[in-house]
Amino acid sequence: MKLLKDRILKDGKSFDGGILKVDSFINHQMDPVLMKAIAAEFVKRFSDLNINKIITIEASGIAPAIMVGLELNLPVVFVKKAKPKTMADFYASQVYSYTKDRTYDVCVSSQFLNENDNVIFIDDFLANGNAALGVKDLIKQSGANLLGMGFIIEKSFQEGRERLLDQNIRIESLVRLKWLGDDLIEFVD
Ligand code: 5GP
Repeated sequence: MKLLKDRILKDGKSFDGGILKVDSFINHQMDPVLMKAIAAEFVKRFSDLNINKIITIEASGIAPAIMVGLELNLPVVFVKKAKPKTMADFYASQVYSYTKDRTYDVCVSSQFLNENDNVIFIDDFLANGNAALGVKDLIKQSGANLLGMGFIIEKSFQEGRERLLDQNIRIESLVRLKWLGDDLIEFVD
């Protein structure tokens, strides 16, 4: 997606160790016009699927997911990183965060995900695939059907892509990064 590549080159900041900062347009301040274009691209790429629900994980997945939900007129469920006291029946799993270097619990209410659902998962980044695999576990527990996963940015030099493909998960990444160095951003292709 050229628009996104250009924006990453213009406003992204990369660090040695493989971290890309995109907090001026995705992760902190957000650009809704770019998000709308991102959602349109996801909708195009998943247009062959019969989806009835979008699933994402808080916090940074919510913005792109809700834009996709708006385009498709479908509900969006976000997986929570803390269980609200009022949530009675839920599925739970654990996720290791690469950027925060800690493990956290994730959960989703059984009220909003069940065996009648055909879902796609949308998130901002695919790195080692831990968040995606945690959500996949929740989807499996609920009996819902996972049709694909869409990421705004895939760090192809980390193992997430292989781990998801090993589990036969369809992946659509709008931009794939070959390498990130100090002030160096290289794309796949
Ligand atoms: P994974 O679970 O695939 O290892 O990591 C995915 C999650 O970690 C994403 O949801 C994202 O929030 C965060 N993440 C991983 N790498 C980066 C990065 O380089 N930059 C930013 N901003 N977030 C990242």
